[in-house]
Amino acid sequence: MSIRRVRIIGDPVLRTPAEEVKEVTKELIELRQDLIDTMLEANGLGLAANQIGVLKKVAVINVEEIGVGKGIKVLVNPVVIFVEDTQNEEEGCLSIPGLYAELERPYFVKVEALEFKGKKLKPVTIEAEDLYARALLHEIDHLNGILFVDRMEEERRRILLARWQEERKRSLL
Ligand code: ZN
Repeated sequence: MSIRRVRIIGDPVLRTPAEEVKEVTKELIELRQDLIDTMLEANGLGLAANQIGVLKKVAVINVEEIGVGKGIKVLVNPVVIFVEDTQNEEEGCLSIPGLYAELERPYFVKVEALEFKGKKLKPVTIEAEDLYARALLHEIDHLNGILFVDRMEEERRRILLARWQEERKRSLL
């Protein structure tokens, strides 16, 4: 196991779509563990491979913390296939530490992905709502090179990020 450095906004790897996983390899098993370890260390609800600098479509979600399951869900090649209704809640991201802002998202989602069953990958369909839906959408966005602030109106994003950068500069002094 190893804890990896979480990439911060400005790093091009966060704006690059990840590649689909084709097969289970030693690297994939390591990536799964590193994502879990790094997410737990950072106290995140989820983490996508881009955030630790790996362009593979793998994300982890702490479903136990969200209150919808046991342990951590590992999703490979997840795709959103259906959304319905909307929710407007505060969202944050380990790659923009300290910035929290309201963002409208669908309330309900259906996602197709692969999940590990032992050492094999098997297809699953996940239905989620509320915070779980938000977490899935947030992590799948990461795998497609999209940050949650990218979904905001441009002027609002500009103001929020400028303020965030100011505060970050001050706190890193
Ligand atoms: Zn994030």
